[in-house]
Amino acid sequence: MKSYKIAAVPGDGIGTEVIEAGVEVLHALAEREGGFAFDVETFPWGADYYMEHGQMMPDNGRELLKPFDAIYFGSAGDPRIPDHITLWQFRLNICQGFDQYANVRPTRVLPGVKCPLAGVGPGDFDWVIVRENSEGEYAGVGGRAHQGHAHEVGIDVSVFTRDGVERIQRFALELARTRPRKQLTLVTKSNAQRHGMVMWDTVFEEIKSDYPDVTTDKMLVDAMTARMVLNPKSLDTIVATNLHADVLSDLAAALSGSLGIAPTANLRPEGDFPSMFEPIHGSAFDIMGKGIANPIGSFWSASMMLDHLGETAAAARLMAAIERVTAAGEVMPRDLGGEATTRQVTDAVIEAIRAAND
Ligand code: ATP
Repeated sequence: MKSYKIAAVPGDGIGTEVIEAGVEVLHALAEREGGFAFDVETFPWGADYYMEHGQMMPDNGRELLKPFDAIYFGSAGDPRIPDHITLWQFRLNICQGFDQYANVRPTRVLPGVKCPLAGVGPGDFDWVIVRENSEGEYAGVGGRAHQGHAHEVGIDVSVFTRDGVERIQRFALELARTRPRKQLTLVTKSNAQRHGMVMWDTVFEEIKSDYPDVTTDKMLVDAMTARMVLNPKSLDTIVATNLHADVLSDLAAALSGSLGIAPTANLRPEGDFPSMFEPIHGSAFDIMGKGIANPIGSFWSASMMLDHLGETAAAARLMAAIERVTAAGEVMPRDLGGEATTRQVTDAVIEAIRAAND
């Protein structure tokens, strides 16, 4: 029997709660499906590890993760530690170290979930945002000088390479091609940012003719926020820079009903390093330890992980189970207007997996 080696990295805050729930769901799914199993190893890195060792993960952390088929990540962030340390030493250390350059974020309104937009409901939009995940505004290039003085400066430099731009745009064009509408919107800010962003436009013009079956258009990021709210049905697949897509995907998550639902995949399409799957939300300290975190973002991320592993039937079964629970509306987590705990939502999804008779 095939056994997938999964590295669970729950991290901080509610990350630990939703990843534990997700691992339970994965095991239930493997049992129901037959033919494969999960061999899950948990790496307890993050804020507590930092308090003990002075770093978020060990020096050889990536070496330890490299042999795994996939990484299932919770969240990074803790009030005791500055955010830029938790982010760079932990999540970005893994994403950038493994050159997981394609960050993929599907968004739609699940059945039974209320979209905050009037007149928009389940089935009305189905987006995938593709975020450049290796460079751009988050390349980490820059510095500070004259610290503490009145003339202190802080500089962040965006780095766009032709290779980096072309590979993410081709990835998005390929992805758009597999979707029913075969439509891709390129998002930039090439009116105000006249170097790297113009290169994004130029590269897109050069390569899009290789995908004649994909309909394309272009938007400036500010106008894009308005289009997402005012005309969500007009969009399908979207590609944007690291920063722009980061912001757009939080908006997208909110439009899907709650940040607690949204999943993401950090893909290394070449497969020479493992890819990483995580809910989009952060550590949410206001609700940590209370057992009320919505685990659906973590479950949906697990479904993306199954797709990536080639277990497409199991991925679809998991999504169907999630949707059966949200559509029934009896066991809804608090952020979706219900009263259910993480445990109850997890049990309901496992029950739906077991009950499926197809
Ligand atoms: P970080 O800085 O790590 O991103 P944060 O607390 O600023 O963390 P999020 O964790 O993304 O931001 O959460 C924002 C708010 O959304 C939280 O206050 C929380 O109440 C809510 N939230 C996020 N995820 C969930 C979830 N899975 N279930 C329920 N509520 C959630």
